[in-house]
Amino acid sequence: MKIWLNGKLQDAEGARVSVFDHGLTVGDGVFETIKAERGRAFALTRHLERLTTSARGLGLPDPDLDEVRRGCAAVLDANPMALGRLRLTYTGGVSPLGSDRGDAGPTLVIALSETTRRPDTTAAVTVPWTRNERGALTGLKTTSYGENVVALARARERDASEALFANTVGALCEGTGSNVFVVLDGELHTPPLHSGCLAGITRALTISWAGAKETDLPLDALERAEEIFLTSTLRDVQAVTRIDDRQLADAPGPVTADAMRIFDEQSAADFDPR
Ligand code: PLP
Repeated sequence: MKIWLNGKLQDAEGARVSVFDHGLTVGDGVFETIKAERGRAFALTRHLERLTTSARGLGLPDPDLDEVRRGCAAVLDANPMALGRLRLTYTGGVSPLGSDRGDAGPTLVIALSETTRRPDTTAAVTVPWTRNERGALTGLKTTSYGENVVALARARERDASEALFANTVGALCEGTGSNVFVVLDGELHTPPLHSGCLAGITRALTISWAGAKETDLPLDALERAEEIFLTSTLRDVQAVTRIDDRQLADAPGPVTADAMRIFDEQSAADFDPR
């Protein structure tokens, strides 16, 4: 397996990042997960824009997007596979323990791992912890993912693949690694960005292609929803068959099935053409 580390393609085995990297010691980093089919990255430009937005939010220098593109292409070419998860990690770089970010410059790692297409349906749970809709990191895709790790473990204990958060005012927000859509009275809704959710790329495409409304919803909308689905880079559009103890009969329902079909059709055109 070859990875890209700070300007060079190298063997993953021998690649070394300092134990004093600020990304490791204090979670000072941002990342992107990008779907790659047969060596072509999906929605690469959107992912690179979001990487830049997240880096700026954290006060990191803008990533050199020419290098990032070169690195993605090199890693994809060096590791041929049918379906891959391309992971870009960009951190504050090396600095002595207990000190502020140093002058050594950021660390960029681009790695790829093989994956399989996620099932069309899944189960999800709600968790008692909240997303902060007004935090310094709200809306940024940072490597500070500990809360998501804890919530996902709760989901796994309950045979589910995703945990959904409300925000601090009790509004439905998002999952640990996905956005959420609900059908209420036949209409498709998703929480707005001010709920504190990540600006998911699959979310944005689904809003424009399937015509969803951005609506403030209480968490208990999940108890009334006729249909629920999740979106993310690796899930695409995934129907929820069980939320907590409530079964959603016949998922995917008609609105979800339409969103899945439209997403599959439209997304075929957005793979990096290189
Ligand atoms: N919300 C969070 C917290 C995420 O980490 C992710 C993706 O990893 C998403 C939503 C979905 O975003 P995207 O569709 O860009 O993968």
